Amino acid sequence: MAPVSKIVWTKIDEAPALATYSLLPIVEKFLKEANVEVELSDISLAGRVLAAMGKMDDELAKLGELVLKPEANIIKLPNISASIPQLKACIAELNEQGFDLPDYPEEPKNEEEKEIQTKYATCLGSAVNPVLREGNSDRRAATAVKKFAQKNPHRLKPFSDNCKAYVAHMEKNDFYANEQSVIMSKNDTLSINLNGKCLQTLDVEDREIVSSSFLSACELDSFLNKTINDAKENDLLWSVHLKATMMKVSDPIMFGHAVKSYYSDVLEKYKDDLESVGFNPDLGMGDFEAKIQKLPEDKQNEIKEAVKKVYENRPNIAMVDSDKGITNLHFSNDIIIDASMPPVIREGGKMWNKDGELQECVAVIPDRTYARMYSKMLEDCKVNGQFDVSTMGHVSNVGLMAKKAEEYGSHPFTYKIPEDGVMDVKDSDGNILMSHSVKKGDIWRLYKVKDVAVKDWVRLGHERGKLTGDPIVFWLDSNRAHDANLIKRVVEYLPPHLEKDPIEFHIMAPEQAMKFSLKRIRKGLNTISVTGNVLRDYLTDLFPILELGTSAKMMSIVPLLAGGGLFETGAGGSAPKHVEQFLKEGHLRWDSLGEFLALAESLRMIYNKTGDEKVKAVCEALDSANEAYLDNSKEPSRKCGEPDNKASHYYLARYWAEALGKSDDKFAKVAKELADNEAKILEELKNAEGQAKDIGGYFKPDDKKAAEAMRPSATLNAIINNI
Ligand code: NAP
Repeated sequence: MAPVSKIVWTKIDEAPALATYSLLPIVEKFLKEANVEVELSDISLAGRVLAAMGKMDDELAKLGELVLKPEANIIKLPNISASIPQLKACIAELNEQGFDLPDYPEEPKNEEEKEIQTKYATCLGSAVNPVLREGNSDRRAATAVKKFAQKNPHRLKPFSDNCKAYVAHMEKNDFYANEQSVIMSKNDTLSINLNGKCLQTLDVEDREIVSSSFLSACELDSFLNKTINDAKENDLLWSVHLKATMMKVSDPIMFGHAVKSYYSDVLEKYKDDLESVGFNPDLGMGDFEAKIQKLPEDKQNEIKEAVKKVYENRPNIAMVDSDKGITNLHFSNDIIIDASMPPVIREGGKMWNKDGELQECVAVIPDRTYARMYSKMLEDCKVNGQFDVSTMGHVSNVGLMAKKAEEYGSHPFTYKIPEDGVMDVKDSDGNILMSHSVKKGDIWRLYKVKDVAVKDWVRLGHERGKLTGDPIVFWLDSNRAHDANLIKRVVEYLPPHLEKDPIEFHIMAPEQAMKFSLKRIRKGLNTISVTGNVLRDYLTDLFPILELGTSAKMMSIVPLLAGGGLFETGAGGSAPKHVEQFLKEGHLRWDSLGEFLALAESLRMIYNKTGDEKVKAVCEALDSANEAYLDNSKEPSRKCGEPDNKASHYYLARYWAEALGKSDDKFAKVAKELADNEAKILEELKNAEGQAKDIGGYFKPDDKKAAEAMRPSATLNAIINNI
């Protein structure tokens, strides 16, 4: 018998976690055929909280070790990047379930509370991906997925003739303006110093690119105020776009500035009251609403009246949920730029206002580094019109991600500057490598990228160009100190690949790269974007949302540096709204296509390594099943009573069995049983809808209850269990 290969399937949160209860039993049975074992690894928020407090094994740490080994083969589903309110809700639920966990101390009062806060902090924000992503990223739409989208185009709204929407960004003193960068010439220990006092040290490697920059708080405030006034004057909706989940130190601070600017009348007038109840603007108006409840009722009413006045005097603000009155400034993790900007383009330069209507907006993206490429796209659409989904070309991405590359690894080295002075980065001989004059409140950060990551990224970019014949474009700005250093490496590492296999390549600043790619998109031509870590994240939502309707349909492969593979399912998140619907009416509209595609790639890696023909058969059958799934439009419906996620898994199993059954009698029989019982199975699934579901927990559902809720067809279960 061939040796057993193992795939690790991550147990995560919300909608994809619910879908797993129905999908995994099917996957396990089909993979057993190829001698591939599936192991579940709990990296859900609840699991991580329990591990942080010593109440469960630390599965994430184990996966962190596995990704450094060649045998790693991990299917990573989207998980919650927790905000503080989410973390607190999770702790409360776990305590209700009988775990004895301390509360999250927002303002620790002693050493013990500080220690508790530090432990919980490891669960906040994007805590999972940086541990697992020990490789660069290869994200693209499978050919079948792209063709499906072109044949069944979703609707993009036209831009009006005199569209006034625009992207606003700072013009000076932002991260873009202040960047400095060095390339190390030896392994060393650097120190970060403020006014001569060492704040921390960090180890760096020979040839590592180390950069630092700061954004002026004062300049940010005047920029924000200007955009608020402009929006009011031009009757535009004011919207802020940041990434507080991923940039968990710097962006909540910028978010806090936006809150303070927009609500300045109230926050200044009631400064003392708000301070007395511990309101923190960085936590948004959600925190404001919670905290003012501690004030006497007449004071609360007075403040609420003053907030109403703000809405009258200020421009309309973009809404996250207009029905519930949740604004753009309620919770910092609600305005995730990569998810919030594509809809602005999709809706013709508009966002939702408080009346639940679409209104043209000013998209406020303070730092120029990545704002201008969004601006380029918006301006292009204003001139050339909305994109045509049925003909538009594809932009795939090769992203520099390995070893916590660039700004996405900067959290431990980000500071809100406590006093005016000079921030220096020195080498171990005391030489000043980078130096910034800063003011109290400025946001300073240091970020780096290791040479091994850059070299592999250039290789991967070239490989994708070679395999597809499409041009590769390095989105690098020679006017940025960091990018200028990266360009030096690209022109060193690319030529040996080009000598062997010549391909078309370009190096362009993000605005020019956007212009180049859009021109090709409008001609129906494909382009490969080869970008740094932030643009990887932004572009792999931006283009897919326009091209495919969602980034969840993208393949997201991380060829790990150590030789293994991490297969991320879709580029979307964990879709909390889907859970809301499921709990209310038993209908799960989550589309597991991302999981199906990731699984096929994961199997392909096993076959490429082992040459095992059984794995090949199961993998190719899954490829056929995925195509059939798309061709026959078996994605879940959004409406209760119509086929949902559970039904889509039935069809996947059936198509998979049909394809395998061509050369395997056992699966031919399974396929026949599934086909013969179609009506009965769909009826059983439908009968389970229209009622509320109790799954025993939101962050940590009861496995038995959740499995029952997600596997309500006795007929389907019997056929699958018998395989
Ligand atoms: P989201 O979960 O991506 O959901 C936004 C919307 O996208 C959903 O409501 C849904 O639209 C659609 N969607 C996403 N995936 C889908 C799928 N497989 N099938 C059908 N529809 C899908 O975005 P979010 O609300 O911004 O983020 C939720 C949580 O996920 C956050 O905690 C965030 O930090 C985290 N997140 C994790 C990852 C990751 O682990 N890789 C990535 C991004 C975000 P409809 O509601 O219209 O159906």
